[in-house]
Amino acid sequence: MTETYQNFIGGKWTAAAAGETYADINPADTTETVGVFPSSGPEDARAAVAAAAAARAEWKALGAPRRGEILSRAARIIERDAESIAEGLTREEGKTLTEARGETARAVQIFDYFAGEGRRLTGETTPSEFPRTMLYTVREPLGVVGLITPWNFPVAIPAWKLAPALVSGNTVVLKPASAAPLTALRIVQALAEAGLPGGALNFVTGPGAAVGWELTSNPEVAGVSFTGSDTVGSKIYAHVTARGGKAQCEMGGKNPVIVMDDADLDKAVAVCINGAMWSTGQKCTATSRAIVHEAVAGEFTQKLLAGVAGLRVGNGLDPETQVGPLVDQGQLDTVLEYIETGRQEGARLLAGGNRLSEPPCDRGCFVEPTVFGDVDPGMRIAQEEIFGPVIGIITVPGFDEAISVANGVRFGLSAAIMTSDIHRAMEFVDRIEAGLVHVNSPTVGAEVQVPFGGMKVSSTGSREQGPVAVDFYTELKTVYLEY
Ligand code: NAD
Repeated sequence: MTETYQNFIGGKWTAAAAGETYADINPADTTETVGVFPSSGPEDARAAVAAAAAARAEWKALGAPRRGEILSRAARIIERDAESIAEGLTREEGKTLTEARGETARAVQIFDYFAGEGRRLTGETTPSEFPRTMLYTVREPLGVVGLITPWNFPVAIPAWKLAPALVSGNTVVLKPASAAPLTALRIVQALAEAGLPGGALNFVTGPGAAVGWELTSNPEVAGVSFTGSDTVGSKIYAHVTARGGKAQCEMGGKNPVIVMDDADLDKAVAVCINGAMWSTGQKCTATSRAIVHEAVAGEFTQKLLAGVAGLRVGNGLDPETQVGPLVDQGQLDTVLEYIETGRQEGARLLAGGNRLSEPPCDRGCFVEPTVFGDVDPGMRIAQEEIFGPVIGIITVPGFDEAISVANGVRFGLSAAIMTSDIHRAMEFVDRIEAGLVHVNSPTVGAEVQVPFGGMKVSSTGSREQGPVAVDFYTELKTVYLEY
């Protein structure tokens, strides 16, 4: 029987005030409903904000080390339940079970890392101009923060917002993406079991325009951290900052891999397949442009096509599957439209391009891994985020042209170069406009102990993860103490 889940407000599981619900569907088999969730409205978000506001004083007074201990206990609970969390993730989002296990393990690392941050939430002492004066800074939580997350990393992204927000002493309202709420709910359950006081963390599912927008509008919400598309993120940033709130928006990418004439081509192909095809290309850091030196373009293309031809597409629960479905019918339609656009723009379709509808793909949102050749840097498929297993090959005569093509997009999230020349690698690091820079490694991936985020329209400038993550979730108070 399909389970019905509830919101979590003020420490209690509760249905949406209006009683509305919606179905969370398995994209690998759309006849399966993974769970039924509240389709909440602004009134539910307001109740969650009120509960978070009421819990502020108690949570702040607990102190960062004790808050960190709760995160640490949550990490152990997620570890204990990892297999069922990963399976639920695959069922609702579609990525392979191996990828879902990796993402769940990442959430454990995030909670462990920020548990430690509870004992390091440091300010600074500085010499003062005045005698007998102690001059120092302390970190204060913002208050109530709203966290709005996408479906593509439904455990890692809620975790990498929740952990720094909570350890810094904020109380939280989390609104997960409607396509993948179950995984985020499991994290909320883990934190509740770990002993988080009622109201410190609230969880409300429902449409972004209703629940999310209330979080961005409500004057009690001091900060909003959003990850998702740049269309929604730029609107949220303007709206929150206009009312004096603090906003952090992490958005899309159009991430290139430059393949130079001195690259190890087998490795370059593996890097491009990893970046473009794993997680069905549904990563903000996914590789969507291979910018290839003309001297090796022919050989690179043949090797890439051979690699892509061998990929197994299917249900992520099947251990043989390498590429799962797109998250839903809407995303499938978007990807197929982009493929059609690429054809019409004059790019050469070298592999894939079609919806898959034969078993084991007959009941889901599957598309063939797709490769375009003869891509011009100005084409829409070379400029816009597609968010599917689609890569375009752009041929260039040399390094300077490669850099100029790589930088010639609105986005600046992640970028890679494949080369055996250290001088070129370092020049790439200097000149590339991206917040995440890879040399001889895929554009994807994020270690928890270092900052993550983009430049240009990919981000509003702050960084998540690593020690700087707490900067967004805290205010600095400067203290002059004369004795
Ligand atoms: P989306 O922008 O459609 O939705 C993101 C979240 O915002 C969801 O929870 C949604 O319900 C909510 N939302 C939608 N409209 C809203 C509104 N008017 N007010 C408030 N909230 C609203 O994005 P998505 O399709 O869920 O995710 C895919 C996107 O996320 C891609 O563009 C991808 O690149 C990006 N992404 C970025 C990063 C990063 O760290 N840079 C990481 C993962 C995904």
